Amino acid sequence: MVKYINVRSRARNEFIDITDKIQEAIKDEGITSGICYIYVPHTTAGVTINEGADTSVQRDIQAALSRLIPFEADYSHREGNADAHIKSTLVGISKIVFVEDGKLLLGTWQAIYFCEFDGPRHRRVAVKIVKAVKAAS
Ligand code: ZN
Repeated sequence: MVKYINVRSRARNEFIDITDKIQEAIKDEGITSGICYIYVPHTTAGVTINEGADTSVQRDIQAALSRLIPFEADYSHREGNADAHIKSTLVGISKIVFVEDGKLLLGTWQAIYFCEFDGPRHRRVAVKIVKAVKAAS
């Protein structure tokens, strides 16, 4: 079964920490060991895992992406959000995280971020948690 996490972005470019919401979804499923798939069904957003303690890191990542992919350039896409589509492709729209002892197997400083590149919008993130199956002996 797929669970959806609703995300409300408030800026055009924004990283939103969704670690706790994903952890809640795992708890609801009651799975102690398995795999958690995180999937963003949007063309102008993404998902990344990076530093969660010092929020200046995510600001630096956003700034670096915007230097690399400016809002205005010689784009063919006429909707005015070509930069957001390109950022989505570079950052990616899915992640896989192991689940052990009922918890996301993340490093001490890691957090899972929904990456908004064309906000503000209502978004959703699909989460699928697959229980590990013991091999028959
Ligand atoms: Zn577009």
